[in-house]
Amino acid sequence: MAGSAAASSPPYCGRFAPSPTGPMHFGSLLAALASYLDARSHGGRWLVRMEDLDRPRERPGAADDILTALEQHGLHWDGPVIRQSTRDAAYAAALARLAEQDLLFYCTCTRSQLRGLPVYPGTCRQRRKAPATSHAIRIRVPDQHVSFEDRLQGPQSEQLARDCGDFIVRRRDGLFAYQLAVVVDDAWQQVTHVVRGADLMDSTARQRFLADSLRLAPVSFAHIPVIAGPDGRKLSKRWQAQPLQPGTASASLFSALSALGQAPPADAWGAPVNELLDWAHHHWRWSAVPRERQSSLICGLG
Ligand code: GLU
Ligand code: ZN
Repeated sequence: MAGSAAASSPPYCGRFAPSPTGPMHFGSLLAALASYLDARSHGGRWLVRMEDLDRPRERPGAADDILTALEQHGLHWDGPVIRQSTRDAAYAAALARLAEQDLLFYCTCTRSQLRGLPVYPGTCRQRRKAPATSHAIRIRVPDQHVSFEDRLQGPQSEQLARDCGDFIVRRRDGLFAYQLAVVVDDAWQQVTHVVRGADLMDSTARQRFLADSLRLAPVSFAHIPVIAGPDGRKLSKRWQAQPLQPGTASASLFSALSALGQAPPADAWGAPVNELLDWAHHHWRWSAVPRERQSSLICGLG
């Protein structure tokens, strides 16, 4: 009897899942560092998955730049880097499983037809046969709450029908949607804990619903604050946040630890990245991570 409960819970596995649309910046370093430290302080594995699903938005060389930046900041991952561009068969299989449950429909609505509407109005909900014209595939969401516990932000609940509506799982251009791919891959890679920016909080109920529909094990979520740029908006690759510089890795890590509330000792300033990470790994405290969704910290690095 003893130990059977513990033996049944899968070992901790975390991941960082960047989209190669630009170089690493301070905001993505925070997400990578928080998920890395949480994984390592649990004695867990930490994976990197390249979310190169959206070919039109991909920037040549960005994937390699991100991996180089991770290494320069001492964030070494376990196992091979999985690329979503190689995983179409798995996403297609997941769509087939959803179709078997009669959850999918074909949508021919154009962007201009949907402009200004708060959620998808259900126009094509009954279309179960693929039309000859170009179309997206949407999933029918239930008229009920999806609830989950965020390890940092506390209990969350979304009414998918009201807050988001039937959402796209395969786009009109034939690409699989991020929401589907992330759920399929987290399960396939046996990820147990997701730590990421709070800008993805609004996607979480959709992902939980997809995981439930596909009968996949639920993952634990924690959403860390998103750093605002000088204009008060989220730092993002699309908004030209300054890329991290190789020569300032130690300073960037020190600042990232401070932004995560970890208060590194003053004499750690300028220490080699592996020493800083070693300190951080042994002193990692969830309770010190700020709980707001957008941090007022203004990022002036770079
Ligand atoms: N690829 C997503 C992004 O870079 C993150 C996905 C996730 O962490 O779930 O915004
Ligand atoms: Zn439609």
